[in-house]
Amino acid sequence: MTAVQPALVVGGGPAGNAATPFPRRDGIDVTVIDADPGWGALGSGITLGGNALRVLGQAGVTPAPQPGEHHD
Ligand SMILES: Cc1cc2nc3c(=O)[nH]c(=O)nc-3n(C[C@H](O)[C@H](O)[C@H](O)COP(=O)(O)OP(=O)(O)OC[C@H]3O[C@@H](n4cnc5c(N)ncnc54)[C@H](O)[C@@H]3O)c2cc1C
Repeated sequence: MTAVQPALVVGGGPAGNAATPFPRRDGIDVTVIDADPGWGALGSGITLGGNALRVLGQAGVTPAPQPGEHHD
């Protein structure tokens, strides 16, 4: 399989950061850049459904939810 090496992700928001763990896990050198020198967090919280938690678990960002586990 041909892989891009290295990779550049333009934009360090949630989408850009979510795009990095899987290629990094596959050995691709990923750099994230952002045009905003004051880059930081917006808002006060985030609501994640079970599907999002599963993907974050697969990416190694959070512990993978276990069958029957409930998150409130
Ligand atoms: C005031 C406010 C409060 C919010 N509060 C919440 C909340 O509490 N909970 C919640 O879940 N959501 C909240 N949201 C929504 C949430 O911020 C967005 O849904 C989310 O940021 C979208 O992520 P994204 O990665 O798609 O885009 P963005 O977060 O917009 O990220 C895109 C990034 O790309 C960068 N960029 C753009 N063009 C270029 C370029 N040419 N070169 C380099 N970098 C570039 C930008 O600087 C930006 O950092 C809020 C939004 C706002 C505006």
